[in-house]
Amino acid sequence: MDYAEFHRRSIEEPEAFWAEQAKAIHWHKPPTSILEYDNPPFRKWFVGGETNLCYNAVDRHVAERGDQLALVAISTETDETREITYRQLYREVNDFAAVLKSLGVGRGDRVVIYMPNMAEAVFAMLACARIGAVHSVVFGGFASHNLALRIDDAQPKLLIAADAGSRGGKVIPYKPLVDAACAQAQHPPAHVLVVSRGLDPDYTRVEGRDVDYATLRAEHAGEDVPVEWLESNEPAYLLYTSGTTGKPKGVQRDVGGYAVAMALSMWAIYDVKPGQVMFSTSDVGWAVGHSYNVYGPLVAGATSILYEGLPTTPDAGIWWKICADYGVRTIFSSPTGIRVLKKQDASFLTRYDLSKLEYLFLAGEPLDEPTAHWINEGLGKTVIDNYWQTETGWPVLTLMPGVEMKPVKFGSPGLPSPGYDLRVIDEATGEEAAPGQKGVLVIQPPLPPGCMTTVWNDDQRFLSSYFSHFSELLYSSLDWAIRDEDGYTFILGRTDDVINVAGHRLGTREIEESISSHPAVAEAAVIGVHDELKGQVPVVFATLKQAGTAGSQGETAKQMLQTVADQLGAVARPARVYVVNALPKTRSGKLLRRSLQALAESRDPGDLSTLDDPNALDEVRRVLERGADAGQ
Ligand code: ATP
Ligand code: MG
Repeated sequence: MDYAEFHRRSIEEPEAFWAEQAKAIHWHKPPTSILEYDNPPFRKWFVGGETNLCYNAVDRHVAERGDQLALVAISTETDETREITYRQLYREVNDFAAVLKSLGVGRGDRVVIYMPNMAEAVFAMLACARIGAVHSVVFGGFASHNLALRIDDAQPKLLIAADAGSRGGKVIPYKPLVDAACAQAQHPPAHVLVVSRGLDPDYTRVEGRDVDYATLRAEHAGEDVPVEWLESNEPAYLLYTSGTTGKPKGVQRDVGGYAVAMALSMWAIYDVKPGQVMFSTSDVGWAVGHSYNVYGPLVAGATSILYEGLPTTPDAGIWWKICADYGVRTIFSSPTGIRVLKKQDASFLTRYDLSKLEYLFLAGEPLDEPTAHWINEGLGKTVIDNYWQTETGWPVLTLMPGVEMKPVKFGSPGLPSPGYDLRVIDEATGEEAAPGQKGVLVIQPPLPPGCMTTVWNDDQRFLSSYFSHFSELLYSSLDWAIRDEDGYTFILGRTDDVINVAGHRLGTREIEESISSHPAVAEAAVIGVHDELKGQVPVVFATLKQAGTAGSQGETAKQMLQTVADQLGAVARPARVYVVNALPKTRSGKLLRRSLQALAESRDPGDLSTLDDPNALDEVRRVLERGADAGQ
């Protein structure tokens, strides 16, 4: 198939294109119209159609592939592997749905799910989908404050929690966090359903509120719960954005459009067909986890692998061992994950039989070229950079090997996915930027199926956050981009990551790329720091592949300055370089530049509740006091 033609049709004949794609899923009642767009930018896909995500992910496959594995949940934290066929998944999900119903949960009710990557998290999501309840999975690494914010926004009837998570062998009890969040919230749920793995056997039970999943399941085991057929545009689930730039937004997703987008992306982008195996290393709490640990692979009739554990436990070969054991065709991870492996022995990449593995997709943050080359050469597999957002739910930019494999250009996530009418807009003029010229990446609405329908309970915020940046009605990605002559798009960082040095506007992302090209550098964060003379100056925080002596660190830091000056010119030359052992990141692996900047300007680092490792910030404070490794 011809990619260009495939994409052209999706834009120029959207109704014909999507009507065809919609055949990939089961409709209880077919849609009466494919697209309704009389209230821009709000749009409705597959209007009047009735379907159900759980039916498409589970029931539909039982007859044809009941004994095929649907889900493999592997935990190196609890040393447990659960292999679940489609038939078993049907049972698990129905039992779970019966328990939800017994607690009075029904169509349209919100359910917050606060669980790690364990099989029951998937059962719970699908059970909600089955009965038309709207799930909102909150990443298990978030603390009680984050959880409380999301509870108050979603106002759930029920909260489902694991007794505990585990990270690097350390048990993290969830129940005290849930209790604290419920105490803090204005709208706590009526019930908390605890799924216990016995990791925290003595957790405190709140009388009248807390219920135990195993006990209730025993009462309802074996019940078949009828599927609730939903109109295509009813809410399927809510998912809050990472909060890298501020207060998280409750992304609302629909039922029919999302199911169709999942089905399309599985064959066209990830090249995974029914019966094949996909392994996403994400957490169920993120957008990738929703789409490519749960709904995508299951809607497609594939096998999904869910992994709980570090990428380095028991050793840095664990992902590749899983790929070999289950014959994974497509693995999906993040640049952060690969950078973790890059600090380990590269021979782990070649220790296992990866003959069935075809692709490694990476998403979530910029994929720097050295990391892309390292993993591409180390594995000898196709590496595809994927650009998307929680808001879109599936890739915006990618290559599509299931349609036509175009050449990889490292540094670029590639070409638009079907349905995405992308443009790069010059911020100053509002005009389309010429090839090679930097602008803001925007989507010409209507947004394709699968993308958010609105911000939960806040249409106004949907409009003001995404559609108010230009005189034309355009969805702003809030990311900088450049398109080359071949239509490949390069992402240059967030629009709020631009710094102004003596009147020159510099993207911190470009400076980071340049520093990462130094062979000793593992990762770099560049921020703009206030400067009396120049307005702002670029300041670098970098981690090295191998910690050296203070002297050798100073030498490397000096070379970084030179590298930037050589590649980007003297104006971009950073004022200072600090070598650190770890960079502050969110739990989703994104750099917390705003906190780095605040510390470097001796300000309060702000909301740190999404911070992964508090030690990273302490270290930043220490190096700031100690002084730079290079520069003034
Ligand atoms: P918030 O919107 O709450 O501030 P966030 O933007 O970090 O949080 P996500 O939706 O998880 O939340 O992240 C999407 C963003 O991640 C994109 O807008 C982009 O900045 C970045 N991103 C994702 N994939 C890529 C990629 N392949 N290359 C470059 N940047 C990427
Ligand atoms: Mg965002």
